[in-house]
Amino acid sequence: MMRLLVLVILMLGFGTQLLAAAGAPPVSEEFGLLRERMVSRFAGRVPREWGETVTGVRTRIKNATDKVIALTFDACGSSSGKGFDASLVAFLEREQVPATLFMSGRWIEANPELFKRLAGTSLFEIANHGDRHRPASVVGRKAYGIDGTRDVGELVDEIELNARRIAATTGKRPGFYRSGTAHYDEVAVEVAAALDQQVAGFSVLGDAGATFSAEQVRKALLQAPPGAVALLHMNHPGSGTAAGVMAAIPELKRRGFRFVRLSELPLE
Ligand SMILES: [Zn+2]
Repeated sequence: MMRLLVLVILMLGFGTQLLAAAGAPPVSEEFGLLRERMVSRFAGRVPREWGETVTGVRTRIKNATDKVIALTFDACGSSSGKGFDASLVAFLEREQVPATLFMSGRWIEANPELFKRLAGTSLFEIANHGDRHRPASVVGRKAYGIDGTRDVGELVDEIELNARRIAATTGKRPGFYRSGTAHYDEVAVEVAAALDQQVAGFSVLGDAGATFSAEQVRKALLQAPPGAVALLHMNHPGSGTAAGVMAAIPELKRRGFRFVRLSELPLE
C-alpha cells in the first residue's frame, strides 16, 4: 500500500514536471469540471456547417465606414511554422502600427522569450490560435490534411489551455480565438463563445498562409475595404509577407487608413 502511494506521488510529481517543461498551465480540478460542463452542455449537437465563414465567425469591423483596418498575424507553430519574422515585427514597431498576434501554444513553446517580449508591448494584442493549432471541429473534421479536434472535450482543451497559457504570462485573458487553419463547424464557434472567446475570421486573405509574393501581399492589402480584418502570418521569415506589408502600409496611411487591434472596435 505504502509503495503504491509513493509510486502515485512520484508519478504525479513527474507529470507536473512534464507540464512545467512544456510551459503548459497546470490542469486543475476546476479545469476538469469546466470541461465536463461543456461536454454535457453541447452533448448531441450535430454540426451542419464546415469552413472559414460558418455561422458566428466574425470577419470584419462592425458598421465600419471610415478607413480602418485590423491587421492580424498568425504564429502557427506547426513543424515548419515555428519561425519568427523579425523584420516584419520590427517594421510594425518602428512605424507604430498596432496589430493582433494570434499565437498557438506550439509557437509559444518554441518561442517563450519572444512571446513574453511581444506580450509586453502595448502595440500588440495577443490572441488565441489554439493550443495545438488544430481545426475547430466537434466531430474530427480535417482541413488541409490536419486533423480537427475530435469532440467537444478536445476542443475545450484546444481553446482553453492556450487562453490560460496566454493569461498566465500577460495577466490578460485573450478575447479572440482563431483556430489552426481557420476552419470551424458552427457548434465549435458556440463552444468558443461559451469560453468567452470571440471567433475572429478574416475578410482579406493577406498572404494565403505566407505563400504570396510580396507583390501579391501588397495588392491584397491595398484592396482592403474599410473595416477589413486582414489575415497574415508572422512565423515565416523569408516569405513575401514582410516586404508586402512594408510596401502597403505607407500607401494605406497616405490614403487615410488607420490600424486597430481587434478589441478596439466591435466585430460583425
Ligand atoms: Zn495558423
